Amino acid sequence: MKSYNSFQVAQQQVRKAAAILDLGLSTIDLLSWPQREFSFTLPVRMDDGSARVFQAYRIQFNTARGPAKGGIRFHQDETVDTIRALACWMALKTAVVDLPLGGGKGGVICDPRSLSERELERLSRAYIRACAPYIGIGKDIPAPDVYTNPQIMAWMMDEYETIAQRHHPGVLTDKPMQIGGTEGRRDATARGGVIAVREACNALQVDPETFAIQGFGNAGQRAALLHQELLGCGKLVGACDSKGGLYNPAGIDVKDLVTYKLTTGSVVNFPGARAVPRDSILELDVDILYPAALENSISQLNAKNIKARIICELANGPTTPDADLLLDKKGIHVIPDILASAGGVTVSYFEMVQDGTLDFWEEHVVHERLDKKLTKAYRTVQEAIREKKVHPRLAATIVGVARIAEACELRGWV
Ligand code: GLU
Repeated sequence: MKSYNSFQVAQQQVRKAAAILDLGLSTIDLLSWPQREFSFTLPVRMDDGSARVFQAYRIQFNTARGPAKGGIRFHQDETVDTIRALACWMALKTAVVDLPLGGGKGGVICDPRSLSERELERLSRAYIRACAPYIGIGKDIPAPDVYTNPQIMAWMMDEYETIAQRHHPGVLTDKPMQIGGTEGRRDATARGGVIAVREACNALQVDPETFAIQGFGNAGQRAALLHQELLGCGKLVGACDSKGGLYNPAGIDVKDLVTYKLTTGSVVNFPGARAVPRDSILELDVDILYPAALENSISQLNAKNIKARIICELANGPTTPDADLLLDKKGIHVIPDILASAGGVTVSYFEMVQDGTLDFWEEHVVHERLDKKLTKAYRTVQEAIREKKVHPRLAATIVGVARIAEACELRGWV
C-alpha cells in the first residue's frame, strides 16, 4: 500500500485549491511552506537522576490573518513533516471558520505514557523555556493536542509567566477553568463536529440513527455523548481505541462506556459489547462514522468497505488522498477535518477573547456562538461545493486558501 507523507498531502491539497482559484506562483509558494519553523532539543532530568534529550518543534505556518494558533502534540511518531502538515491544516481551519488567527503546531517526540507526572511537568516547562521568545499573545498561541491536556497547559502557562514576570493567561488556551480557561472548551471539538453532522443530515436528508467512533479519546467520547444529546437520537454500534474494538448492533451504552474507559484506560473487555478487531469499526454499516484517532486511518485498504453515509473527521488528516477519491466515488459525504474539527480552535479563540477582556461567558453563550460559527462555516463550504463542483475537502480547502491568500495580498506579501 502507498504510504503518505502528511506534509506532501497538505501541500498538494493547498496547490490544488490554489490552481482552481487561479492564484499566482508567489502566492502558491508562500502557502505551500511554513512561514517560520523552530526546532529544539530539550534536555530533561528523569526521576532516576539521568538526563534525556527530546526533539521538539514549533511551526508557524501562516500568520497573515492573525497570530499562529494550534496545539502541541506529545507523540513518539511525530516528525518535522507531520508537524508541518498539522500546522498547515490549522491555518486552513482557522480560515474556514473565519477566526482572526493564523495556524501553527508544536510537537515533542516522546511517549508521554512512559513518563511520570513529574517528568511530564519538567518536559512541558522545558518546551516553554525553549519557545518563550517565539510564542505569546499577538505571536503564536498554543493549546493541547494529542496526549497533552489542560494540566500541561497550566504548567506551560506558569513557566511562561515566570519568565515574563507577569500574568499572560492568553498565551495559550484550553487551560483549567480556575486559571483563565473557558466554559465549553473540553467538548468543543466534538460539539463542532456534531453541529456539522446536524447540518449535513439536514442538507442530505439523512437520519443519524446509528453511528460508530474510531478513537475513543477525549474527542471521541464527547462526540458519542453529544451525538445523542444534540441530535436527540443515535445508537452507538461500534467504538475502538488503540488497544481494541467493540461492536453491539443493539447499541452500546455511551455513558457506561465512557466511565469504563476512564477507569480502565481502554474500551477493551467492556461488558456491554462484543470484542472485534480495531480496524473493523471503520467498516460498520452506520449512518455516521466519526474518525477521531490519528492521521491516515482511512486508506485505500478500508475505504472501499466503508458503508457510512456521512463521515465526520474529528481527527486531523484521517483520510489519505486515494481513500478520499474512493469515498467521493461511493457518494459518501465527508465533512473534512478542517471544518469538522474546527470547534476546538473556535472555542480557544473565545477563550483568548475572554482572557483579554477578563469578562467570562456563561456556558450557553459559548455553545450558541460556537453553533453560529460552525453552521456558517458548514454552509459556506456547501456553497463552494456547489459553485466549484468539487468534493467537500477541496471545497473547504478552497475557502481557507482564498481567505489566507487575500490576507497575504492585502499585506503586500505577494
Ligand atoms: N489541537 C486542536 C486542533 O487540532 C485545537 C487547537 C487550538 O485550540 O489551538 O484543532
